[in-house]
Amino acid sequence: MSIETREVRCTGCGSLLAKLVDGALTLHRNDFQASFDGTFRASIVCYRAKCRRLNVLRLPAAGGADDGSPRPLPR
Ligand SMILES: [Zn+2]
Repeated sequence: MSIETREVRCTGCGSLLAKLVDGALTLHRNDFQASFDGTFRASIVCYRAKCRRLNVLRLPAAGGADDGSPRPLPR
């Protein structure tokens, strides 16, 4: 059984914003840690003052490589 981990990086500056661990979004900043799973859309604003780019993430993430361009989930 392998746990898949993917890094979620800012599309503007490449800063690590969160991780996807086995399909769950995990945030870890200093003493703060949170994890979310299920089907949802997350909006994360980059924490770098010079960037502040809005990154939108859809879960579950569509399989395959994505380059940050959001695309609607097929139904
Ligand atoms: Zn950024």
